[in-house]
Amino acid sequence: MTHPRYPHVFTPLDLGFTTLKNRILMGSMHTGLEDIPGGFERQAAYFAERARGGVGMIITGGIIPNHEGGGGSKLSTPEEAAEHRIVTEAVHAADPDVKICMQILHTGPLAMTPDAVAPSAIRSRIGRFVPNELDEDGIEKQLGDFAQCAAMAKLAGYDGVEIIGSAGYLLSAFLVEKTNLRTDQWGGPFENRMRFPVEVVRRVRAAVGRDFIVIFRIAAMDMLEGGMAWDEVVTLAKAVEAEGVNIISTHFCWHEAQVPTIATMVPRAAFASVTGRLRKEVGVPVITSNRINMPAVAEEVLARGDADLVSMARPMLADPDLVKKAAEGREDEINTCIACNQACLDHTFGGKLTSCLVNPRACRETELNYPPVTLVRSIAVVGAGPAGLAYAVTAAQRGHQVTLYDAAPRIGGQFNLAARIPGKEEFSETLRYYNRMIEKLGIDLKLDTRADAAMLMGYDKVVIATGITPRRPEIEGIDHPKVAGYVDVIMGRVPVGKTVAIMGAGGIGFDVAELITHQGTSAAMDIAVFAKEWGIDFANHPRGGVTGIVPEVARADREVTLLQRKASAPGKGLGKTTGWTHKLTLQRRGVRMVGGVEYLRVDDEGLHTLVNGEPQLFAVDTVVICAGQVPLRALYDELVAAGVEAELIGGAYEAMELDAKRAINQASELAAVA
Ligand code: FAD
Ligand code: NAP
Ligand code: SF4
Repeated sequence: MTHPRYPHVFTPLDLGFTTLKNRILMGSMHTGLEDIPGGFERQAAYFAERARGGVGMIITGGIIPNHEGGGGSKLSTPEEAAEHRIVTEAVHAADPDVKICMQILHTGPLAMTPDAVAPSAIRSRIGRFVPNELDEDGIEKQLGDFAQCAAMAKLAGYDGVEIIGSAGYLLSAFLVEKTNLRTDQWGGPFENRMRFPVEVVRRVRAAVGRDFIVIFRIAAMDMLEGGMAWDEVVTLAKAVEAEGVNIISTHFCWHEAQVPTIATMVPRAAFASVTGRLRKEVGVPVITSNRINMPAVAEEVLARGDADLVSMARPMLADPDLVKKAAEGREDEINTCIACNQACLDHTFGGKLTSCLVNPRACRETELNYPPVTLVRSIAVVGAGPAGLAYAVTAAQRGHQVTLYDAAPRIGGQFNLAARIPGKEEFSETLRYYNRMIEKLGIDLKLDTRADAAMLMGYDKVVIATGITPRRPEIEGIDHPKVAGYVDVIMGRVPVGKTVAIMGAGGIGFDVAELITHQGTSAAMDIAVFAKEWGIDFANHPRGGVTGIVPEVARADREVTLLQRKASAPGKGLGKTTGWTHKLTLQRRGVRMVGGVEYLRVDDEGLHTLVNGEPQLFAVDTVVICAGQVPLRALYDELVAAGVEAELIGGAYEAMELDAKRAINQASELAAVA
């Protein structure tokens, strides 16, 4: 029967020898579970939970075919295949109709080993080693290892493999002129440059036989100066199709690209039209991806004919039940991925286990659980910011009776401020999710209610999540009319002049700079604006999608300087995978960034400082304070003094280096044992 809301999403896809039950797959993500002791058991739980959650197909994190392929988990022997069986059996036991394919990842020039190999000995901008140029025997060995890895994946019980041919890894290094300087049959004209990837597909197909899914991940846009031209993308797609791939999956960047492709300021489904163009050129089904985080977006993309399948990777970390909720008409219960990268990619690139800011259980399925309670307690939670919300919802899900207080007229705390920053519109999805869960779980929500100790006396337990208050540095003139706090500026309660100094260059200082230098439509909400600001030409598709295109960012109509006391470069503490985008955008708008500042006083002339010991006046109309926060915990102290069982969480517990990831994680861990 056709699904009333998502007819395309819930139409099965017949691959001839096997059928995918719907059009949503969980895209490949390296989580770190691949590489730790006990990792197979943990992956089994992690993937099985997503299989139960309704996804049609799962692609694992990348598994290397040989030592040269990188530092991760390797599959090349029957003994290694036996360990993978733990994962495939768990997924098939959870739902026999869910397919699981293993990604074969050879990182080529990006491998963290001096034995790294590549078509030419060219070090990547982000690579650690100069790779060793492959000779003819070396190429033959790599091809054999790909085939062996695929054969072992079949032995391990996978339904298929995905070969990654993009992102700057081995296969894509052959495809692009600047990383392939060879003059033999593996380099030079495109038909030679594509020989290696096509041969990999041929060998893999020969190794696994016909009835086994083979997916090729192609860089439909490299996002790289001198990347593949459109006709080359099409030629490659047709060639791998001819060698027997069942599905082509489109990918949109090299890791070294200077264009954001999945961060929260990227519009939803921004790249799907490129997949749509490729789909017209090939006969096999194509997958699109990137910033498709809700079923309605997936449905639109499929209905437009841009793809046959939609890959959602991070959204499956955020909510393992996403597909099931869509199927059952419960999409308002989806805990949406807000594309912050804070607990997933930032962790991966920081060498930590992946998780999720909005779902700290992600990748911790065997250790962080929320079992039903045996003793129901009445719990008051004070403060409905991220910490209080996570605690209240988790405790209520477990069966406790929860009352949630907030002094404000709406839930969300500081997340309401975050959602007002252009490029962070997705943050409001988290508040939509929590509003719905409060309603569904019957949490007694008391808004516009500033809780005091007297109100909280009758509960079995009180949880204080009252957050923070912004810090006001104690300098002369801090009460001058030129001085404004970030809350008033973000809420639009105070006028901001044409010349502005921002005191504090942390996450909030950067966000305020973004807000007050931004003009027109937010790039996150408009693909054309996004393309212009980041220099992408979707229509003409020059090499890599970006060659020769100059980003057009409107200079700010006010002069803004971001200041910090530390001598280091401002922005250093921002997210590993997103900080550079914020910095680059502000620099393009003309924002100045100054470190090594000592604040002296504010007066009618402006902000007086010492910069690296030298007096400097910032003659500005407005000084915005973004100087961090201090915890609001007086209520907790009062309750403890009165003998009430109370717990402190979020910013109220510790404001230093607090973010929503830590607030939600701490609250969830405590509510799990409440
Ligand atoms: P808060 O969010 O401060 O919530 C506390 C709540 O308690 C408030 O709603 C308040 O009204 C209520 N309250 C206080 N006292 C009482 C009382 N007596 N009775 C009833 N209610 C009371 N974090 C990230 O991880 N990523 C980001 O990208 C990010 N961007 C941000 C952008 C901006 C502009 C801002 C301001 C913050 C951003 N943050 C970000 C930080 C993040 O929002 C905070 O770390 C998080 O909100 C802290 O959660 P909390 O629940 O501890 O406190
Ligand atoms: P923050 O990142 O800790 O930055 C505070 C800033 O204030 C720093 O620049 C600090 O640098 C300065 N400062 C501290 N004490 C000061 C003092 N006494 N006088 C003057 N300046 C002082 O905190 P935030 O910007 O307030 O952000 C709060 C939290 O929200 C952060 O933990 C952040 O992670 C999170 N957040 C994250 C994002 C994101 O994109 N991931 C965005 C916004 C907020 P100096 O001491 O060097 O001056
Ligand atoms: Fe999405 Fe952020 Fe969770 Fe990563 S950490 S999955 S980007 S919500």
